[in-house]
Amino acid sequence: MSILEKIKAGLVKFMAGRRGADELSLALLIAGALLSLLSTILHTPVLSLLSMAVYIYTLFRMFSRNLEKRHAENAAFLKFWNGMTSGIRQFFNRLKNMKKYKYFKCPECKSRLRLPRGVGEVTVTCGKCHHAFKQKA
Ligand SMILES: [Zn+2]
Repeated sequence: MSILEKIKAGLVKFMAGRRGADELSLALLIAGALLSLLSTILHTPVLSLLSMAVYIYTLFRMFSRNLEKRHAENAAFLKFWNGMTSGIRQFFNRLKNMKKYKYFKCPECKSRLRLPRGVGEVTVTCGKCHHAFKQKA
């Protein structure tokens, strides 16, 4: 067995039962790099310490054997991230279609609704809570 094969076998044995990098680890690495960059630009050593703490936590997560807990953390992060990016996407979509549609919220359940502009006053029935109300567009 060559030295490289020995190192590879050792790494495989070390990583057995560990998850390695997941989406949250990647996001933490990026956050740590941004904090490090900000600390350099703003000459704030506190941010540098914070970025070190983020890196240490990332390493801890990557080499942790408590897969259930790390999986739950990653799932919570993905839920937050997907919700945020979906909200941003919807915002830009509304901005793009502002001339075509009038956007408003249901007075009962606050879900977002839209009407084509120029239809005048119509009775709208919310698809979510079935509340009917008059709306101008
Ligand atoms: Zn509603």
